[in-house]
Amino acid sequence: MLLNGELSCTELTRKFLNKAVLNQNNAFTKVFEDEALQRAGEIDQKIQNGKPGRLAGLVFSVKDLISVAKKNVTGSSKILQGYVAPYHATVVNRMLDEDAILIGMTNCDEFGMGSSNENSYYGPVTNDNDKNRVAGGSSGGAAVSVQEGSCHLALGTDTGGSVRQPAAFTGLFGLKPTYSRISRYGLLAYASSFDTVGIIANDVADLELVLQIVEGPDGKDSTVYQGGKSSDKEIESIAYFRQALESEGLQEEIRENFQNVIDRLKSEGKRVEAIDFPEAEHLLETYYILTTAEASSNLSRYDGLRYGHGDEVEKAANLIESYTNTRTEGFGEEVKRRIFLGTFVLSASYHDAYYTKAQKARRMIRDKTLDILEDFDLILSPVTPTTAFGIGTHTKDPIEMYLSDLFTVHASVCGLPAISLPTGEDNHGLPIGIQATAGDFEEEKLLNFAKYLSNLGS
Ligand code: GLN
Repeated sequence: MLLNGELSCTELTRKFLNKAVLNQNNAFTKVFEDEALQRAGEIDQKIQNGKPGRLAGLVFSVKDLISVAKKNVTGSSKILQGYVAPYHATVVNRMLDEDAILIGMTNCDEFGMGSSNENSYYGPVTNDNDKNRVAGGSSGGAAVSVQEGSCHLALGTDTGGSVRQPAAFTGLFGLKPTYSRISRYGLLAYASSFDTVGIIANDVADLELVLQIVEGPDGKDSTVYQGGKSSDKEIESIAYFRQALESEGLQEEIRENFQNVIDRLKSEGKRVEAIDFPEAEHLLETYYILTTAEASSNLSRYDGLRYGHGDEVEKAANLIESYTNTRTEGFGEEVKRRIFLGTFVLSASYHDAYYTKAQKARRMIRDKTLDILEDFDLILSPVTPTTAFGIGTHTKDPIEMYLSDLFTVHASVCGLPAISLPTGEDNHGLPIGIQATAGDFEEEKLLNFAKYLSNLGS
């Protein structure tokens, strides 16, 4: 319609803006009203001149953890209030270069640490399906910006499930790419050996197109894989973990939905097998030991001098007091908990017992997972143990919150790509998703599977 002149980018952007500025679910930390409209006008011109980019007219949001030049990028933390990013993250540059329109930045758990978007300086994001429930996290605002109709697509980050879990809680598609497929340049670092940029959208075609545009080598991030591999062969064989379906905390409707999907795949002639993966028992501790260790190191830069607002610096009697005051006042409770935990597991007397051991466990889990993927095209699992839970119901006990990452941390510990896609609803009408994980750089396989499963119908 845009190319035929039946619709203009300006009209489209205005429609999204009307929704976004209301911020009914607290999904946005900032909306760029004037800039988005101005840009839409420029792209309308480009369309008229016959030279639009590949994303002309695509309206997107960016998680407030990904740098946008000249904007206050905060990681939803108090400590970064007033910090202005000097440059665009590579992903933002690549989207804008293809004429996508940036509508605003989205709320998240502080520095990406959380599973419900309740650990935010800006307050929780509500689920558009039921405002008493969470949106998921940490990219909760990203998911809801698409769910409520404020944009076509959202860029988030996924360290242990932050794109897949909120996508599942809001009935959307979420892709976490292979570690190192997309540049991390311009991201506020949480756990650098796990962090990825993820994409949330209404359908698979949008994920596919945007992945092609944002992925690939970047002179500013030497960890991005230089090669490239894709596999679009048809999916024939699927494994799932017996123990996952037997997990105590798994909501009955999710179990039934999962079983249903398996039965349908079998009736379509796929080879679907339950396998044992006892290592799954150690996924959460491996993930939380390593990510908190990396976080404690990454977050040391927020000292009030180089990064972090300096309100407390002048009041302090000496340097140590200045650090202490800044960090005491600027970080939220969950971030502090993780800095403590991470510092502890890295300390000289405990390093071998925790950090080194978790590194070994990580390698072992990845090797065993790759063995499984030699025999099967995909591993299938639920995305989350429950559908979107009530706001405030999991905040008392951090372990309870960490348990909601049970299924998503596997791909993150292994660095593998995973997709979450909607497959049904529970008795309250809340979305249920399913997760597929594939081998390194096999995103195409996941996208094809998501298309195939969506077309199967129920
Ligand atoms: N919930 C997980 C955590 O708190 C994952 C978060 C993320 O992927 N950023 O670490």
